[in-house]
Amino acid sequence: MIKRIREYGERKYLPVCDRCGATLASEWDFEYAVDAMHEKSWSFRKDAFSGEWEHFCPSCTRALRPSAASDFAGIA
Ligand SMILES: [Zn+2]
Repeated sequence: MIKRIREYGERKYLPVCDRCGATLASEWDFEYAVDAMHEKSWSFRKDAFSGEWEHFCPSCTRALRPSAASDFAGIA
């Protein structure tokens, strides 16, 4: 998830892994937070039920890959 936080009175965006809670540095802009996740090889997935985007750090991405593959198989 990208969490909206307040840091020293400023609105900032904090990338948080939806599985393990790992974070990246907070960013001033939502788009910057997304870019930072791409740069650090985080993965993105839209939850089919809630419609919410989920974000996973590289180690969780690796851990999730087998189940993600079966999710995709289920769609077809
Ligand atoms: Zn993680």
